[in-house]
Amino acid sequence: MTVIADRIKQVQDNIARACARAKRPEQSVKMIVVTKTACIEAIREVIDLGFTDLGENRVQQLKQVADDIDAYLRERAGTQPPQKICWHMIGHLQRNKVKPTLQICSVIHSVDTLRLAEEINNCAHKMATRVDVLLQVNCSGETQKYGAPVGAAIHLAEQFTTMPNLRLIGLMTMAPLTMDKNRVRSSFTRARELFEEIHSLRIAGAKFKELSMGMSQDYEIAIEEGATLLRIGSAIFS
Ligand SMILES: *Cc1c(COP(=O)(O)O)cnc(C)c1O
Repeated sequence: MTVIADRIKQVQDNIARACARAKRPEQSVKMIVVTKTACIEAIREVIDLGFTDLGENRVQQLKQVADDIDAYLRERAGTQPPQKICWHMIGHLQRNKVKPTLQICSVIHSVDTLRLAEEINNCAHKMATRVDVLLQVNCSGETQKYGAPVGAAIHLAEQFTTMPNLRLIGLMTMAPLTMDKNRVRSSFTRARELFEEIHSLRIAGAKFKELSMGMSQDYEIAIEEGATLLRIGSAIFS
């Protein structure tokens, strides 16, 4: 087994154990492989292992890597069944980078202002497409740069759902940068409560079912608190 395959297996075993503790089916949790620190060979290997949900946090690198992987998949097409990559934008997105992002990504996790949502909606309209988005919320209580304040989330969610070229599929949050597991857990709990509140208010439709939280340091806690999408990079690549 290669190093990468071995690390993925370790992460998957941990995911399975966390799901068992939380009495959740394993299929209720999907791992997005965050490629931002990986070399292209490592990314190819991950794809060869069958993982097709990949995440990047910068548009420039996203374009480069997506091009390279496209070429790789075309090259491989003769010998293996075709695979389609689902790219996730997980990092802060500037409004002037929305168009190139939409050309590659089918999901954007980091929508945290009305203006950004409007820009994505406009661009998607021009491209005659509809894009899945998550509302990023700052649940950590610390002054993080990105993420809408919890108090603004319900109103923002309502506004997002009025935009015809957006599909609000859930919430995203990042835990505070701390070793204090209680603080990490309470920020995930807060996100889940908000998610449930939006759900019960029937603001968004049936597609509103994703809770994107949990990275290499904290994905097991995130699973216990209800995460459906994990964003994992360094546990695999470094
Ligand atoms: C880099 C990144 C991740 C993955 O973090 P790791 O600690 O490497 O697993 C997840 N989410 C976002 C928004 C990131 O920028």
